[in-house]
Amino acid sequence: MTEQNLRALLGPKTSDTAAGRIVRALSERGPLTAADIARMTGLARSTVSTALVDLRLSGLVRDADVGDDAESKAVGRPGTVITLNPEAGTCVGVHLALDEIRAVIADVSHSFIAEQNIALPKDYSPTVAANILKGWIETTYAENGLRLSGLLGIGVSVSAPVSPDGTVNRSSIVPTWAGVNVSEVFGKAFNTLVLVDNESNCSAIAEWMWGGAVGEPDFVLFKVDLGVGGAVVSNGKLMRGVAGGSGEFGHISLDPDGELCRCGNRGCLELMANLQRPLRILSAAHGREFTVEDAVDLANSGDAGAMRLIADLADVAGRGLAIVCSILNPPLVLVSGALARTGNVFLEPLLSSYERHAHLKTRDLPPERKTRFVFGTLLKNDVVLGAVGMVLRHHGRAG
Ligand SMILES: [Zn+2]
Repeated sequence: MTEQNLRALLGPKTSDTAAGRIVRALSERGPLTAADIARMTGLARSTVSTALVDLRLSGLVRDADVGDDAESKAVGRPGTVITLNPEAGTCVGVHLALDEIRAVIADVSHSFIAEQNIALPKDYSPTVAANILKGWIETTYAENGLRLSGLLGIGVSVSAPVSPDGTVNRSSIVPTWAGVNVSEVFGKAFNTLVLVDNESNCSAIAEWMWGGAVGEPDFVLFKVDLGVGGAVVSNGKLMRGVAGGSGEFGHISLDPDGELCRCGNRGCLELMANLQRPLRILSAAHGREFTVEDAVDLANSGDAGAMRLIADLADVAGRGLAIVCSILNPPLVLVSGALARTGNVFLEPLLSSYERHAHLKTRDLPPERKTRFVFGTLLKNDVVLGAVGMVLRHHGRAG
């Protein structure tokens, strides 16, 4: 078994072969039964069985181990669960944050091997980030006995709209990045596939592959945290827009005379519905610096002040969400970000405001026509998981 075999089967030239389709389905979705594979690929069960014999012999696929993550995913499913051989290849996911890189390494069986936050100087350049990441990857691969030749791709998340070619359109974390092609910068440092996307799109990919939206062809991710972001999945595709601006819900202008936003507009939703203002108020009221975690914990403990600040924020966020849903009318909204960890402290006022401002009122709709609202399930590391998921999913879609 070689990485070359796997690379060949993940490439576009094998799009019409049974083995290629099976390998790509396993890369995209992780461990599956033969019945799942037949359903996803459209191949006959007998064709899948025959191809799996060869793939097992080549060492590219194997049965999932009892007790590992793959097995737990299979609970309730009949039949043997099959996975790509973890030794057949690895992918790296990174999120480029304000002053650090968050990175994970996963293998093609969807198991996570290593995770690290790497501190960076503020205002770092993409080239500096790529070189520091390269050093970490080389060290970590050596420590874990992994071959660098098995690195199948790097997914990069940035906090800004990213054009399909990897160009940052308007960087919200480091203004000097606007116009930089991150795909090119990372492509020069690494001799492998590099995919770049906006952080909310990465969150949606993570929830789609492993979280609260598995198998959902249509949903909206609505993320409220230190900022407000979102993503739209429609008909099984992540909507990116012509310039990567799709799902930028935080910059819907609710008040043309409002405060100036860092994007250059006035009165953006994000200005009124992010956690920074509540953190400042709580810090002043309690005489100590409040983190997001502190605020979430305080609200969850039943503190009236923290709950009120979150309810006020949710009221504005609900107005924004009603605009989004009046345009898209999605069957499912995944509520994500730190505030989702406060449960109904956030959700009840959010939905109450949504109902007041939405065009279609939930109360008027039959059950099967109501938009469902659920929490994301990967609330802490969704962005970096989505970055690695972007690569696994890309291989699944090759051809
Ligand atoms: Zn704005």
